Amino acid sequence: MRKDGVAASSRGIHINTGNGPTIQPIDIGHPDYIALLDPDTAFWSLVKKTELGGALTGGSLLGQYRKKRAAFLAEMEALRFGMNLSAIYFNPTERCNLNCSYCYIPEPMRREGEHMSPARLIEALGILKGYFEKHLPRGTRPQIIFHGSEPMLCRDAVFAGIEKYGDDFRFGVQTNGTLLDDEAIGFLTSRGIGIGLSLDGHLGKVADRTRKTWNGDGTFRKVSGVLEKLKGYPNHNVICTVTAGNMRTLPETVKFLHDREVPACMLNPVRCTLPGARLIKPRDKDLVGPYLAALDRTYELYEKTGRKLIVANFANVLVSIVAPAARWLMCDISPCGGGRYFLAVSAGGDLFPCSEFIGLEAFKGGNLFEGGIEDALESPAFRKVRGRKVEDIEPCSRCSVRHFCGSPCPAEAHEMNGSMQRPGAFCELYEEQVRYALRRIADGKEDAYLRDGWDAGMSTSIEIDTFENAPRGDRK
Ligand code: SF4
Ligand code: SF4
Repeated sequence: MRKDGVAASSRGIHINTGNGPTIQPIDIGHPDYIALLDPDTAFWSLVKKTELGGALTGGSLLGQYRKKRAAFLAEMEALRFGMNLSAIYFNPTERCNLNCSYCYIPEPMRREGEHMSPARLIEALGILKGYFEKHLPRGTRPQIIFHGSEPMLCRDAVFAGIEKYGDDFRFGVQTNGTLLDDEAIGFLTSRGIGIGLSLDGHLGKVADRTRKTWNGDGTFRKVSGVLEKLKGYPNHNVICTVTAGNMRTLPETVKFLHDREVPACMLNPVRCTLPGARLIKPRDKDLVGPYLAALDRTYELYEKTGRKLIVANFANVLVSIVAPAARWLMCDISPCGGGRYFLAVSAGGDLFPCSEFIGLEAFKGGNLFEGGIEDALESPAFRKVRGRKVEDIEPCSRCSVRHFCGSPCPAEAHEMNGSMQRPGAFCELYEEQVRYALRRIADGKEDAYLRDGWDAGMSTSIEIDTFENAPRGDRK
């Protein structure tokens, strides 16, 4: 990261030369506003197009910003390099009862891989508890997300772990939903456990193309039934993996989820880490239209009903703009959260920087039961992932929105594009999400895309209102 004043004698009093801040104008596709962005700090301001010259050469915006710039740089530095491990993706089994087209877990593992016994899972959670007690402030409850393959195949072990450590961790379960019977739903909802379900469309003929059993049977009907049962439960969400086959139905999918009162969803473009996923990858440019149309649809539904369906991955991009430190998903920041903010534990206790790396032996950083977390965090594999920075990637190093995008994903770039120092698969989608977010901010509509109370405890760092017709220039 650039350090002001280290390399040159310039006082930094001019923008875009010497040690002065780099302020770049970005066309956001708004009829009236243009964005000004400092890519290094992620500071932004929206100014009337007709006022651009004035904003860059006078007025109070630049003066105020100069005073705050060092603080913004420090905040960005802390966010990018200073976070503590506080979440675990815990894979209690390698096996899965489904054979989804894009799964990142290699097929032999999903067919006949390892299962954790209840005693072994409890032992693992005990080790994690000990680590967190040592490294996190007292009273913090780190997150454990039971994750895929399919954790409900290990239901006894998972539930025993939740029973024993319910006061120590905030638990969540990411499941394909096919094994959630009434008893399991009752167990999880009565304890407030987060439930993430996977569903790839609003109709069986769409969703079942990618998510099916080993025999080829679809899962739509079963998962829709579970969604009906979860109606009214505030702590559930749906992941829709977006492929070439379902991308055009995204607006209908969000309507389907909103009708079922799902509080939040993720519209995740398929991660292309494994070759099977690349076969159904949507083209970056083709995905933008349906994706933004789905966001428009959530806004219309909110206006009509007063009820939000949060598209969490877009909301995270939006939050990264309005309040960088409040983001909660860690793919859109560089280095990403893998091996830094969270890590993944496999069914055998092997430690990987993120679930996305499970199955890539070169990225195994150690084992929970042998060297433990401390060793894994210092392993070459974890260091390599933590060392991937947008500044070292072309064209990300000169991209103004690099701290809203983060150039995900290292696993995908490594496997698909041959090196971690390359971008991942969906650059244009990120460019357009940021533009869309800034347009929504320009129109004062950003709250419709964010959870109620998302900004509790935040404070505004700069609120500038110096130009005619109240151009918005703020950073929280
Ligand atoms: S992937 Fe694209 S949008 Fe993201 S930082 Fe790189 S150039 Fe920018
Ligand atoms: S960018 Fe990839 S490796 Fe990093 S946290 Fe996201 S999925 Fe994991």
